[in-house]
Amino acid sequence: AHDIHIVGGGLAGSEAAWQLAEAGFEVRLSEMRGGGDSTPAHEGDRLAEMVCSNSFRSDDARNNAVGLLHQEMRDLGSLIMRCADEHRVPAGSALAVDREKFAEAVTNRIEDHPKVTVVRERIDRLPDHPAIIATGPLTGSALADAIAAETGQGALAFFDAIAPIVHKDSIDMDVAWMAARWDKGGKDYVNCPMDKPQYEAFVQALNEGEKTEFKDWERDTPYFEGCMPIEVMAERGSETLRHGPMKPVGLDNPRTGRWPYAVVQLRQDNALGTLWNMVGFQTKLKHGEQVRIFRMIPGLENAEFARLGGIHRNSFINSPRLLDRHLRLKSKPNIRFAGQITGCEGYVESAAIGLLGSLFAAAELRGEEIAPPPLETACGALLGHITGGADVETFQPMNVNFGLMPPPPGRARKADRKAAYTDRARIAFDAWKSKELCRLCATAAE
Ligand code: FAD
Repeated sequence: AHDIHIVGGGLAGSEAAWQLAEAGFEVRLSEMRGGGDSTPAHEGDRLAEMVCSNSFRSDDARNNAVGLLHQEMRDLGSLIMRCADEHRVPAGSALAVDREKFAEAVTNRIEDHPKVTVVRERIDRLPDHPAIIATGPLTGSALADAIAAETGQGALAFFDAIAPIVHKDSIDMDVAWMAARWDKGGKDYVNCPMDKPQYEAFVQALNEGEKTEFKDWERDTPYFEGCMPIEVMAERGSETLRHGPMKPVGLDNPRTGRWPYAVVQLRQDNALGTLWNMVGFQTKLKHGEQVRIFRMIPGLENAEFARLGGIHRNSFINSPRLLDRHLRLKSKPNIRFAGQITGCEGYVESAAIGLLGSLFAAAELRGEEIAPPPLETACGALLGHITGGADVETFQPMNVNFGLMPPPPGRARKADRKAAYTDRARIAFDAWKSKELCRLCATAAE
């Protein structure tokens, strides 16, 4: 008998299992690797395998949102962070790890924990008792079908066609302007105008830009015409983009009184209005190439990207629509989701959502409820994005970044802006922790 069932022993599931076990609950952790199944990206059967790079990215908690997230997780006793710190390899200000030793350390700690039973089995349906689903971007197909059926999503494994997202305050609004086509529906879009030579140079740059290749196992995933990469459209003819996502009709440039030759539009991507996505600009261009080529767009010369575009296979649910603020499935609240399947992206983010999910679950098992961390913190901003801040229609996986937090009041100098976010975050995090978590510790001790 167990108190809670965790499905998936990756970055999120391992963290959640550890936290719940440390909180005194009996945990069953089901992991299909090692039980006759695997995913197309994992190589072994250890828990918390890092499938690609060995980096947890920046460890700078003063100037970087993921560095701040590291710090908050350490503060919450994260197993993933503890094992990463123990097996760190030199990487400047980044936290990179020896991936074998890291995964081995996580596996040993969890397998040795008296409160965790690791079962090497594949789960094909949603459990009926308290559970956390943390099966990741490559969720087993039967379970993915069961989730799709429960959530009415149609399908769960698809190409994740991601358009780049830009920090609003890096757009030059002396060049771009706000308007909707034919002035319909308010002034909802940022419009970046191009003249003919600029457009032609841009199309040529797209055609010549370096692209990433599909992996073999990605080739069989259905591909939607509506997600056509921008560079594939450019290849089809020099006019294709001007009749597609870069169509200028109905967009009077207030500075010339005329329609430009072509337009790039950006649409608001989060409730705070700090992040804007480039409409129709999903792409497989290499990241460095995207920065170089997209900064050719008038108004985006100094654009800072909160995320770059990409197309790869990814299973994730529409969390802002389907989950409540405690990561519970609204239609079946005994089920929580955690990790990349919730639409966060990256090792650290996945583990962080696993950690938060386990705190919420632990509170609930004790008949309590804790408030989610505030949006001013890194973990709260990430959670806030996937449980409500993001636009339901355009929801795409997201790394943690400062654009997910409300801008700090006042006008800090550019050089001090990041520190303004992180200084405020630390205060907000400490206040939340002492109010919510210490109250819980006190109840547990009674
Ligand atoms: P995972 O770590 O994938 O864990 C999910 C676990 O669930 C797996 O162990 C899986 O075997 C298990 N599972 C699945 N279905 C079932 C089932 N039905 N029953 C039982 N167990 C099941 N992120 C980065 O930060 N950096 C990178 O460089 C990077 N590269 C990536 C490359 C690829 C090809 C892919 C697919 C992803 C990459 N990611 C990268 C994203 C990365 O996968 C996630 O950030 C992270 O691993 C997600 O953690 P998770 O716990 O949600 O899922």
